[in-house]
Amino acid sequence: MSKSGGQLGRSAIVVGAGIGGLAAAAALAGKFGTVTMLDRDSLPEGASWRMGAGQGAHVHQLLKAGEQSLERLLPGITEDFYRAGAVDMRVGRDVKVFDFGGWMDECDVGFSVTSLSRPAYESILRRRVAALPGVTIRGETDVRRFTVEGGRCTGVELSDGMVLTADLVVDSSGMTGPLMRQLVEDGHAEYESEHIRINVAYTTARFRKPEKYRDEKIGFFFLPAPPEKHFGFILPIENDEWIISLGTRGHDAPPRDVAALKEYASKLPDPAVYDRIKDAEAVSELKTFRKGTATRRKIWEAPKWPKRLLPAGDALSSVNPTYGQGMTVTACAADALSGLLSKRAETGAGLDGLEKEYLTAAAAFAARAWGLSVNSDYVYPETEGERPSNFAMSRAVAATLRKLADEDMDFRVLRYRLVHMVDPDNVLSEGPLAIRFFTALQGSMAS
Ligand SMILES: Cc1cc2nc3c(=O)[nH]c(=O)nc-3n(C[C@H](O)[C@H](O)[C@H](O)COP(=O)(O)OP(=O)(O)OC[C@H]3O[C@@H](n4cnc5c(N)ncnc54)[C@H](O)[C@@H]3O)c2cc1C
Repeated sequence: MSKSGGQLGRSAIVVGAGIGGLAAAAALAGKFGTVTMLDRDSLPEGASWRMGAGQGAHVHQLLKAGEQSLERLLPGITEDFYRAGAVDMRVGRDVKVFDFGGWMDECDVGFSVTSLSRPAYESILRRRVAALPGVTIRGETDVRRFTVEGGRCTGVELSDGMVLTADLVVDSSGMTGPLMRQLVEDGHAEYESEHIRINVAYTTARFRKPEKYRDEKIGFFFLPAPPEKHFGFILPIENDEWIISLGTRGHDAPPRDVAALKEYASKLPDPAVYDRIKDAEAVSELKTFRKGTATRRKIWEAPKWPKRLLPAGDALSSVNPTYGQGMTVTACAADALSGLLSKRAETGAGLDGLEKEYLTAAAAFAARAWGLSVNSDYVYPETEGERPSNFAMSRAVAATLRKLADEDMDFRVLRYRLVHMVDPDNVLSEGPLAIRFFTALQGSMAS
């Protein structure tokens, strides 16, 4: 039941049972008599890869803010992650980051993060959400369109023609699903979208850790500076495995077999990854993923949008995955939704105007991820699109913070806290380090 014990409606529908849908359903449970999740994919029992979330084969880091939001939505979930074999990684110490041409020095940021495969995160969430009051998760159920009457979303039409009604509908069908396009074609929505050609390609395999690395909890993130385009991530995950994703930008092809993957790893700016996998056994097939475009649908400023329809997760905004933000953004937005619903249940405010309130909150999380990734993407000439007018300033801010992080422990900790979204964006301009930061920024811009 919701904290107030009150309900806001009889039924809610969530389209898409990925991370976005599951987090949203956790926010809705108890506030509606029933919450029905619909996914066209066949949903596995355990932590298996599935076609409908093909990106799940690749490294998925859950940032601290995402973990905190999921914990608020589903108390005890972090412990569930650990019980399923998540590796406990101390941020600043176990997660080694190579960016701006060098390693970040070590520090104690004061918190750990979990490291699991994405199918494991999803299966644990699915089990927890399925156990919430009133929640049903239906796989192999393809949604054809949202039904809208008098400017209000009333439910969904399935591809077999069946219509399901609901007081509130969440679209968490991802960025490539057909439903948003259908909604516009049906004349129920008008909004602008922003696209940036990022042309990022990933190749991933999982390896059994050799005996001598079994107790090691270290992961590496290589995000070299231009003109170097190759990036790579290695994370320890459940079952004494590493997951390794290597990638590139532009039209280069990523490696296509394990031998080529190892060879590719040997060309990263530090031998850390290669040293670990050169004699390791691959325990998965190689999977590739190409993401051509970062897209955000600016529904928060849409001239036309149905009431009672909430876009969540990648359906709203989908950025370059290299910065590991997608799951966190959608978890934070669901957490905010939960707060809005609780308040409405307490005050008896009902559902009117919810979509506006929710979109304001969700857009802020999406904007944060968008700003960071787009400004980092635009450094590469391979990224197509007009650079924003504040691009030079954004780069100067990022470079200054990175330099200060090399020199000063307080800034190092702050940088990690910002990356993990546990501090608000404005901490640089308004927090206790603001004056020192602006002095350094001015100095770097003058030189
Ligand atoms: C290569 C790669 C690496 C990534 N790495 C990270 C990372 O390190 N950290 C991180 O946080 N994020 C990462 N991401 C991003 C992350 O995967 C997404 O942001 C996140 O999964 C979004 O979840 P979602 O539920 O919104 O969408 P999705 O996971 O795409 O789920 C959408 C669901 O909707 C269903 N669906 C679609 N259409 C219909 C329909 N018509 N009817 C019924 N069901 C439908 C699909 O079957 C699917 O299950 C990565 C992405 C990629 C591509």
